[in-house]
Amino acid sequence: MARASEVFTLNTFELPRRAGEMKEYELDIEVPENVGVPLIFVPAGEVIEVDARLESVTEGILLSAQIFATAKGECTRCLDPVVVEIDKKVQELYNYSAKVTRAKKSSDEDDLDLEEELMMDGDIMDLEIPIRDAIVLELPFNPLCTPDCLGLCPECGGKWADLAADHAHETIDARWASLAALEIDSPDFKN
Ligand SMILES: [Zn+2]
Ligand SMILES: [Zn+2]
Repeated sequence: MARASEVFTLNTFELPRRAGEMKEYELDIEVPENVGVPLIFVPAGEVIEVDARLESVTEGILLSAQIFATAKGECTRCLDPVVVEIDKKVQELYNYSAKVTRAKKSSDEDDLDLEEELMMDGDIMDLEIPIRDAIVLELPFNPLCTPDCLGLCPECGGKWADLAADHAHETIDARWASLAALEIDSPDFKN
């Protein structure tokens, strides 16, 4: 498993390891690197706020958290800034030890479990995976300022939304211009 950045870890030593015990934490995580997808993300240095409630259960610690963050990017059509406010609830079970009951489960569930199983590392709970997943799932891969953004005029780079309805560029090629002049002078056009 890749070693997670320390900023995402929570030391849970204050939570008694008796089923039913509960404790709440408010975390402000200043992210050391961008968190999100390539075109829109919570930029490095910004804060992800996590309101976490931990509950001791028999097999581990249950995390219920509300994640708040602001992702910033650009509209892929017109390059205007796009901001997505993230307010996402997650719930994950962190096991004290790897499960030994997999044989009882169907193969589908087993695959899912292997992928998603989170583990306590002593008292340390690493929140990076659930936080990243929650944020990535809320973000569009092609951010748009508005769903029907018309983008930019390829001639002048102006935003279609800001341009006049009849906006156009009269770019007549020089060769066509002289041909047009010839046609006007041509004998065929005389009456
Ligand atoms: Zn746009
Ligand atoms: Zn234009």
